[in-house]
Amino acid sequence: MTLVIGEVPQEILSAYYRERFPYDFMVHMLTHGGVDPEGWSLAHREQGLCIATNFDDLMRRYQAPADAAEWRQLLGTNTRRLRKVDVGAVYYAPPAAIEAIREGRKLADMVARRELVFDVDLNDYRDVRFCCGSTATCCTACWPLAHAAAVLLDALLRADLQCTKVAWFFSGRRGLHCWVCDEKCALLTDERRSRLLLFIEGERSRLLAGGEPTASVERAARTLHASFERFVAQHRLFVDATRRAAFLGDLALPAAFVRTWEAAGEFTFASMTSICTAMLESRAERHHLARRRHVALEVLLKCFAPRLDAGVTRDRAHFIKLPFSVHPKTGFVCTPLTLDEVRTFVPERDALHVTRCDAARMATRIAVAERALLLDAVVVVDASAEDELNDE
Ligand SMILES: [Zn+2]
Repeated sequence: MTLVIGEVPQEILSAYYRERFPYDFMVHMLTHGGVDPEGWSLAHREQGLCIATNFDDLMRRYQAPADAAEWRQLLGTNTRRLRKVDVGAVYYAPPAAIEAIREGRKLADMVARRELVFDVDLNDYRDVRFCCGSTATCCTACWPLAHAAAVLLDALLRADLQCTKVAWFFSGRRGLHCWVCDEKCALLTDERRSRLLLFIEGERSRLLAGGEPTASVERAARTLHASFERFVAQHRLFVDATRRAAFLGDLALPAAFVRTWEAAGEFTFASMTSICTAMLESRAERHHLARRRHVALEVLLKCFAPRLDAGVTRDRAHFIKLPFSVHPKTGFVCTPLTLDEVRTFVPERDALHVTRCDAARMATRIAVAERALLLDAVVVVDASAEDELNDE
């Protein structure tokens, strides 16, 4: 079948949820491989169904099928006008009962647990993206922004937060979603998630204030130098005088450094890096940089640091697109990718489209998520072993 990227006909969406959507795997993922059946109960997990009506799309909240069979019935059979499926938190009570029992309390207060999730949307990079920015999609010229965000965030999550169950998903349109399924993240409050965001997004201001970079970020950024150089050239960020001025605008780089770089006349990241290194090594010139010892890294991060949708990460009751669901405007399935696949990803070529997701392709994608979330390595602790743990 030919790949048609655009509004997906209703019957194709319905057929996908009837015949292809991996219900069993998604139950496995959302219940964390059965590690704590009560805690991760599917019957307490909110889903939001977007239903097409004659006028507009309507969001039906507080849906919570109890198992794979009920779920298939809900998406595949019952809902002929289903457009989109989102997933939210696990509540203390069945979601359908929440409104009746919350008595004015915030929805977040009714949340029992939730994975840590992140949303990177290339729409948030308008100041550095001069390719397909006006359209609702992305292209190979701007995708390096998504890859860089993933590399930097992944490094920080693993090295600084010691997370091990980190999975990346193509959002289906122009970005990436990240799911962190480590049990220790499940109980983080909205406040703690908010502080975590401040830490992640605070790297640039720490450097601006003369601080040292987070080691994991600095290491990961070094692997992105070549990609950043290509990105800068492709989008003419340094060569074009107007873009250069706009780019350097809020960086407040030391004036002597910028003068030396511009006088050298080579508007590349490599020349910027070598001027920075030379200045740091020169007794006579070191003072020009004052406390800014990492200006090259600051420049890279201005463009490549992850720009995250705060609400998605901070608010536990916020929805995110259900993995393996279809984006109704592109027909692309929200599919797991390894970081290496993210690096070489070309949406039209590599994204799983609803018209071509055969069983083999689905199995490959499921295996990627299983590996990332360590789902095949779930060990069920038997009662006696658990007693021993409790005794200590
Ligand atoms: Zn683009």
